[in-house]
Amino acid sequence: MAAQIIDGKIYADALTARVTQEVAALVRDHRLKPGLAVILVGDDPASQIYVRRKGEQSLAAGMHSVTHRLPAQTSESALIELVRRLNGDPAIHGILVQLPLPKHVNEKRVLEVLDPDKDVDGLTVTNAGRRAVGLPALTPCTPVGCMILLRETVGELAGRRALVVGRSILVGKPMAELLLAADCTVTVAHSTTRDLPAVCREAEILVAAIGRPQMIRGDWIRSGAAVIDVGTNRVPFRDPVQAAAGKTKVVGDVAFKEASKVAGWISPSPGGVGLMTVACLLQNTVTAAKRQHGLG
Ligand code: NAP
Repeated sequence: MAAQIIDGKIYADALTARVTQEVAALVRDHRLKPGLAVILVGDDPASQIYVRRKGEQSLAAGMHSVTHRLPAQTSESALIELVRRLNGDPAIHGILVQLPLPKHVNEKRVLEVLDPDKDVDGLTVTNAGRRAVGLPALTPCTPVGCMILLRETVGELAGRRALVVGRSILVGKPMAELLLAADCTVTVAHSTTRDLPAVCREAEILVAAIGRPQMIRGDWIRSGAAVIDVGTNRVPFRDPVQAAAGKTKVVGDVAFKEASKVAGWISPSPGGVGLMTVACLLQNTVTAAKRQHGLG
């Protein structure tokens, strides 16, 4: 039986529509317009696309939205100064520093300055700590989006064996925490995990957040498993003429064709998690705005 394809657009559109309604109600009933500031340093092409989408979609949802595009050579102190200014700006409720930052900027030092109440990417120590002990926290958008996809498709998650491949603070680690909070039995794999194919075959839920094109093969997947592919990898076209012309396409961390013959559900990349990430960012911004105004 072929896997059910998890169409991220359906769930992302539904969430965005709910957020848009909530924004309208906040403006109408409380004169509160949630505001998002996105900071992009440098000219990484993928980051530029993500940042543009975030700006466009937050505006389309009725929010106040500003994008700060800074040159690649921006100093760490200038970036920190901007974050401090946005911390104190009452029209801004959410601040997102697009990662990765250029090598000369220390990400941790920038995140240390970010007001945890405005940390809509959920990356500050305060939000990570609150999440770890089960207190309300702003949580990274991508894992939140993955959980929505899993709940909407698989349904009840309690007791399921879940595997997260990858342990970054942006995706893998918070993903594992959310699955644990949903009462899954969670394993986290990484670059030194032994016999990863065998570990994958145990998983009823498999979340791949690796950054290695199509690394997870069809015969690594347990029959009927739910597979969420977070990977977004740009690769040359297989066709030599297109490849020679420098054309590229996006593929996930999972070999989609093979995997969809074995899995019960599978999210494609592109077309799955990426769309949810932006919708969850809008939701986090509304949550942050409400909390800052004692409404959440
Ligand atoms: P990252 O910080 O580079 O982390 C990658 C993780 O994968 C690390 O924990 C690493 O293990 C692990 N890993 C690397 N090679 C491995 C291997 N051969 N076997 C097992 N584990 C391996 O990446 P990230 O930020 O988490 O992103 C992961 C992927 O998701 C990327 O493709 C990224 O573009 C994509 N992404 C997509 C979205 C979206 O919205 N769709 C959002 C964020 C990220 P170690 O810790 O041992 O090094």
